[in-house]
Amino acid sequence: MLKVNDIDVYYGHIQVLKGISLEVNEGEIVTLIGANGAGKSTLLKTLSGLLKPKKGSIEYLGSNIDGKAAQSIVKAGISHVPEGRRVFANMSAEENLQLGAYLRKDHDGIKKDMEHVYELFPRLFERRKQQSGTLSGGEQQMLAMGRALMAKPKLLLMDEPSMGLAPLMVKNIFNIIEMVNKEGATVLLVEQNANMALSVAHRAYVLETGKIVLSGTAKELQERDEVKAAYLGGL
Ligand code: ATP
Repeated sequence: MLKVNDIDVYYGHIQVLKGISLEVNEGEIVTLIGANGAGKSTLLKTLSGLLKPKKGSIEYLGSNIDGKAAQSIVKAGISHVPEGRRVFANMSAEENLQLGAYLRKDHDGIKKDMEHVYELFPRLFERRKQQSGTLSGGEQQMLAMGRALMAKPKLLLMDEPSMGLAPLMVKNIFNIIEMVNKEGATVLLVEQNANMALSVAHRAYVLETGKIVLSGTAKELQERDEVKAAYLGGL
């Protein structure tokens, strides 16, 4: 579904991604783990058209998307749930969800998807009129996910959904990631919480200072000593 081929990405003169190649197959949950500053968010921003690679290519469903505008990438079915949620604080939860569908014109489909988001996140239904900036961190994460789902994505890019959330809420969010995947969305999940990410993912890549240093099935990586030592809290 997605084929990233040897991309280099810079901020000004500083190179942050160095020859990254990876693949995501339809139906998978693939996770990208790595320490602070490894370049995980930069990779997702590049996939969603917010940054342009200086070298390499990004193929999605058989077409090149590197260099395309973010809007046309959303239209092609890629939705990004950004780090730190980034909900529109002064708008209600429901207005945020409606914004997620702003490129769609199928009003019946939008209505159906809104109902489905409320089924996945009953809490959002209860809070639909509330100003989003006053929602809890977990509720904002649900809202950011719900907003992304309103674009009817084929591929969902998720940036650190666990950040700043209590363990029970993290579990809840990861259950929903699995549910959304079972319903048909392919997921590329960036996480520092490697334990949780590897427990839901089919395959994984480890990113260190802009390079992929390891890849394999999630199970294989969970058993690698260097992954245990660096990312899973010791041997
Ligand atoms: P974190 O989990 O801390 O968000 P990350 O793996 O997602 O880490 P990135 O946010 O992709 O890492 O950052 C990779 C590197 O790029 C870091 O060294 C960071 O300081 C740098 N960087 C990120 N955004 C910018 C920017 N807008 N301008 C300049 N440098 C940036």
